Amino acid sequence: MSNNNFVYGVTSLGSGSRGNATIIKSDKTAILVDNGFSCKELEARLEAKGLSPSEISFVLITHEHSDHASGVARFCRKYQVPVWLNMGTSLALNLDPSLEVHIFDSHTDFYLNDIQVIPVAVPHDSREPCQFIFIKNDKKTGLLTDLGHITPYVKEMFTDCCCLLLEFNHDREMLYSGKYPPQLKQRVGGNYGHLNNMQACEFLQYVNFKNLKHLVAMHLSLENNCSDIVKAMLLGQLPNDVEFHIADQQSGFGWIEIK
Ligand SMILES: [Zn+2]
Ligand SMILES: [Zn+2]
Repeated sequence: MSNNNFVYGVTSLGSGSRGNATIIKSDKTAILVDNGFSCKELEARLEAKGLSPSEISFVLITHEHSDHASGVARFCRKYQVPVWLNMGTSLALNLDPSLEVHIFDSHTDFYLNDIQVIPVAVPHDSREPCQFIFIKNDKKTGLLTDLGHITPYVKEMFTDCCCLLLEFNHDREMLYSGKYPPQLKQRVGGNYGHLNNMQACEFLQYVNFKNLKHLVAMHLSLENNCSDIVKAMLLGQLPNDVEFHIADQQSGFGWIEIK
């Protein structure tokens, strides 16, 4: 849906190794998490979700990989949007000093207007990778992509989300029998790479389904995964009252209202 007249909701403008951007929106605030798209591309993708660039109040960055951060500086300069990131990501990106940059501590939560942001450190091959939990009206939305494995800390932090955006990057079989060079296979499938379908499904065993209303499979590899495999794996594992969505590279997923 493109209607976003609600108190609290989330959408993705595109998800995958060719570019990521996620929006967490309340009736007062819109946070753009990551931007791996050109300015023009992002503007079009925002419009498709019923948003104008001037409505974005903050940009928040998970880590410096280009599929998450390549378009941040240009967008923030053009629309004068403040950027929030941790020290490691800031050092790695070396952003233009004319931008309004705020550094957060990866172990301390903070507020962007009415939305509480809890950074969660994750194992991934960037300088200081983190993912986020957003809280509004006591409802948690968890964004959890770009991590090589589930740590006890991640498990503890993400178990009671109302809406969980979870990485289903690749099918192990497809990755290892596919065309990627051996080094890239090792990187993607390694402990500091990306979650495979099996790891994501195993993590779901720890999720509190009493709270979970929406599950979105995120960051699917175009080369090493397919949505039918993900759907088949989740069939039977998810309770009927959990709405399941798959984010894609082209258009992400439609607005989800969180209530
Ligand atoms: Zn990524
Ligand atoms: Zn990454």
